[in-house]
Amino acid sequence: MTTIYLKPHKEESVKRFHPWVFSGAIARVVLDADHQAAAPEEGELVCVRSATNEVLGVGHWQVGSIAVRILAFGEETLPKDFWKERIRAAYRVREAIGLVRNLNDTYRLVHGEGDWLPGLIVDVYADTAVVQAHSVGMHMHRMEIAKAIIAEVPQVKNVYYKSDDTLPFKAPIEGDKIGYLRHNDTSLRHDNEEFWSTENGLSFRIDWLRGQKTGFFVDQRENRALVERYAKDKDVLNMFCYTGGFSLYALRGGAKTVDSVDISQKAIDLVNINVAKNFPNATNHTAIAADAFEYLSKQKEAGKTYDLIILDPPAFAKHRDAVKNALRGYQRINAKAIEMIRKGGLLFTFSCSQAVDKEAFRLAVFSAAAQVGRKVRILHQLHQPQDHPINIYHPEGEYLKGLVLYVE
Ligand code: SAH
Repeated sequence: MTTIYLKPHKEESVKRFHPWVFSGAIARVVLDADHQAAAPEEGELVCVRSATNEVLGVGHWQVGSIAVRILAFGEETLPKDFWKERIRAAYRVREAIGLVRNLNDTYRLVHGEGDWLPGLIVDVYADTAVVQAHSVGMHMHRMEIAKAIIAEVPQVKNVYYKSDDTLPFKAPIEGDKIGYLRHNDTSLRHDNEEFWSTENGLSFRIDWLRGQKTGFFVDQRENRALVERYAKDKDVLNMFCYTGGFSLYALRGGAKTVDSVDISQKAIDLVNINVAKNFPNATNHTAIAADAFEYLSKQKEAGKTYDLIILDPPAFAKHRDAVKNALRGYQRINAKAIEMIRKGGLLFTFSCSQAVDKEAFRLAVFSAAAQVGRKVRILHQLHQPQDHPINIYHPEGEYLKGLVLYVE
């Protein structure tokens, strides 16, 4: 196996279990005798050693500033049954926190670094796991990962692989980036027309074939439940609704009316399907395909107001250099929403941009309130749920933040 020697004292962060080795920390690369290429190949397993030859761990080699993502600390090679053990450990956490139960078969099984599996995301929907590789190394191990999931997660019978958008696009990649790795259920519902998954007792049609990400936003489960608690008798706007997660909880919570808005017509079709499935007699829900900024401006002109607004936009900043613009975007959209909230109403506002930290987001939201001259107070500070654990040695894994504001 190829060995990566670090510069003196550069082993500190790996010894503190930070899973990334940056290229600047590397002193030299020693290929093993029968190595085919003149340099390590993207995705191959390498052993990382300190300048004094101490074994630090084994991980996936990558081209770029993160050169190695460590899989097993203190090991020279991947231990036998590594994949099974890691998947089993991840599943045990989800069981321990009560996510695997009758009325809930939707959860994140593997959250990358948060489950000591850097570069891997796995979401479970009923009997199907959807796997996303964010590194070539994980792509190369996809068959073993699928096998381990089937062996370790009792409910899962099928594994779908969806990495066409997540793998580094310049990397030389062999094999399909999309398709079933395991498909034990040949029934028609796997064309996704009739595939349902349950979150806190609500049914959602999940379309991993055509949907965004793995097909559903698993990370808002707890925050949706909070909307349910506050929705009674309220006029609710769910902006950036996607498949209508927040809308269904608001309806179950007894909202007077719920408007769901998303720019994508496909998303709006799914919201309507989900509402019809859970509340077949509902007459108080409206789904609208529209741009958020335009919708809010038009409704304001028409004098429309709401008691509770949810703003869950896509990541405005995908990279650090886009943060300034993103903050302007958050301020703009929040100002528009706050303006439309009745006295004593609530705003649930979120950012899922990893590059925008809590404080910056909070400042953008407060600037928005000041801009439109409304007094606001923070009732809740929200974050990603417990099946998206943050590795304490890898704080970069924290991405979702939200505020619930009381608007006077
Ligand atoms: N709240 C959702 C997830 C939101 S994801 C949930 O709980 O599942 C962000 C959504 O914003 C996507 O569905 C995307 O189609 C939508 N979107 C992106 N740009 C938009 C815009 N300018 N106006 C309205 N919706 C937009």
